Amino acid sequence: MYSMRVKSVMERGKRLVAPPGTTVAKAARLMAKKNVGAVMVVEEKRLVGIFTERDIVVRVIAEGRDAATTHIGEVMTANPFTVEPNEIFGRALLLMHDNGFRHVPVVENGEPVGIVSSRSALDPEMEEFVAETQRRLSLR
Ligand code: AMP
Repeated sequence: MYSMRVKSVMERGKRLVAPPGTTVAKAARLMAKKNVGAVMVVEEKRLVGIFTERDIVVRVIAEGRDAATTHIGEVMTANPFTVEPNEIFGRALLLMHDNGFRHVPVVENGEPVGIVSSRSALDPEMEEFVAETQRRLSLR
């Protein structure tokens, strides 16, 4: 798993991009619809930041900002750490471990082509198990 290439682990379907002028409320709706925890913030197709559910809690709600009027460009993390598709997935895991975040955008020529997350490290069966457990808990 750790020595696999990023491109074979990354979740292309979980690629969610939006411009900095997107409101936090809209970004949250897109995240919910796509069932992802991070938005890659792009300007003219190039990655300029990352905005995650953690930022919604810490930088928006805890700070008393209004999700309807705050733009993700104001509360994102600019210039995030990234990996390239041909790198080893273990490098992405190390970045997450060393820096305390759970997402790493996958970038090719400056453009985001996918994303890996700490959940990508779970093998597919385990991931399915976690998703199913969460689904059942949300139905309670
Ligand atoms: P997360 O654990 O991924 O939800 O993110 C925790 C914090 O780290 C948030 O403030 C994110 O904006 C930031 N963050 C997430 N991924 C990255 C990354 N690849 N590079 C830099 N910061 C990040």
